[in-house]
Amino acid sequence: MPIASINPATGETVARFDEHDDTEIDARIAAADAAHRTLRTTDFATRRGWMHAAADLLDGDVEQVAELITLEMGKTLAQARGEVRKSANAMRFYADRAEEFLTGTTLPDPSVVGASHAHTTYQPLGVVLAVMPWNYPIWQVIRFAAPALMAGNAGLLKHASNVPQAAIYLDTLFERGGFPTGSFGSLLIPAAKVERVLRDRRVVAATLTGSEPAGRSVAAIAGSEVKHVVLELGGSDPFVVMPSADLDRAVATAVASRTSNNGQACINAKRFIVHADIHDAFVEKFAAAMAALTVGDPRDEKTDVGPLATRSGRDELAELVDDAVAAGATAVVGGATPDGDGWFYPPTVLTGITETMRLYREEAFGPVASVYSVADANEALRVANDTTFGLSSAVWTQDADEEARIVAGLDAGAVFVNGMSISYPELPFGGIKDSGVGRELSAEGIREFCNLKSVWKG
Ligand code: NAP
Repeated sequence: MPIASINPATGETVARFDEHDDTEIDARIAAADAAHRTLRTTDFATRRGWMHAAADLLDGDVEQVAELITLEMGKTLAQARGEVRKSANAMRFYADRAEEFLTGTTLPDPSVVGASHAHTTYQPLGVVLAVMPWNYPIWQVIRFAAPALMAGNAGLLKHASNVPQAAIYLDTLFERGGFPTGSFGSLLIPAAKVERVLRDRRVVAATLTGSEPAGRSVAAIAGSEVKHVVLELGGSDPFVVMPSADLDRAVATAVASRTSNNGQACINAKRFIVHADIHDAFVEKFAAAMAALTVGDPRDEKTDVGPLATRSGRDELAELVDDAVAAGATAVVGGATPDGDGWFYPPTVLTGITETMRLYREEAFGPVASVYSVADANEALRVANDTTFGLSSAVWTQDADEEARIVAGLDAGAVFVNGMSISYPELPFGGIKDSGVGRELSAEGIREFCNLKSVWKG
């Protein structure tokens, strides 16, 4: 894949970038290594000041950065602005909370380990490689970088090849805020160069957000080097709706949860598992609301759903739908690739999905919803958990016992009750099964790239 900005709304190549050669890669790793050695000796107050300054710069650049995001990956301008502001807020969150999260514990009775005093302390690991996706080109990077830098690590970003201008913007953001040169930098390299960087002895850990194959590849390399790795991979989140649910709110949330980010979020609801008593009413309202969405130019403030980010992504989504329809599924709305420029795909609602269809097992990365009818809570849980993924999930019910059972029974990293799965700096984020390992955000996220050191004193 070339390192290039290609406008998904038109298919036009806007800018191409040369990849970094080996000399440049080495220089950037060396700069990160040197910056980490400086950073680890700075105190939290100093880092807090730099992080706040960088957050203010990002907020100040909101229009410019939102335009860039929309240009490179096609989300609506309104959502792009929201992404930038959310990122700046997460930077402030970690600026203000890092010290608290990284305060170790003191053993109340050190005599049990034969010591006069014993405590734990969190220390930075060093240079961490971040392999990141295009779908939230700023947010995905910031939610790694803000905690990593506040902990005293340095970060090296290998961004997705289709968002190079986002990578270039992020390359200087932290330095502009005051962080030492090299604390955070972008490598303009293709995926094939990740192994070379990860095997470098100065790079001590990695995080990857992206697809399952990419995650397996990076984890295998990290494993062979005995380097810590965090993986945030795909999801096919269930959205369970039971008869006691507030149907109109559930439908409105289902639409937002399936189509936000043009349907290309790991935690978009993708499988709608609806009790048979309300299935037909749900499908009718859901299909009508999906059909009413405005698809088009993501720069137009009236647009709800823009294009998919890449031609291959659009074509893979269309193949999944075509496979299901050919095998007997019904497209209640949508289901056909439109003619014309740009990589658009209409909001689509499918019923009649069976276990043999690819869509039953694979992640639909675009505005395509599969609706399943189930007889009761047991069947809802069976269908919800019959997936290799386990990222987030949602359940809609007003029945407290049913809620408790379903919350406990869902195999996922999060459950949202009567609401939409969203990431918050305050809540741990991550998955189980093929959705990944480790956690981002909250206290857990900043501790992932720290050495938890035990200190024993005689
Ligand atoms: P992708 O192809 O895996 O790309 C993600 C990043 O990994 C890019 O920087 C890519 O570089 C790199 N990459 C790809 N193959 C690699 C390999 N073999 N070794 C090393 N690096 C490699 O993912 P995508 O299709 O762009 O993104 C969509 C997927 O990401 C979906 O499955 C989605 O659910 C998941 N996702 C998960 C989360 C989460 O938090 N769990 C968040 C967002 C997205 P190139 O661009 O140069 O190929």
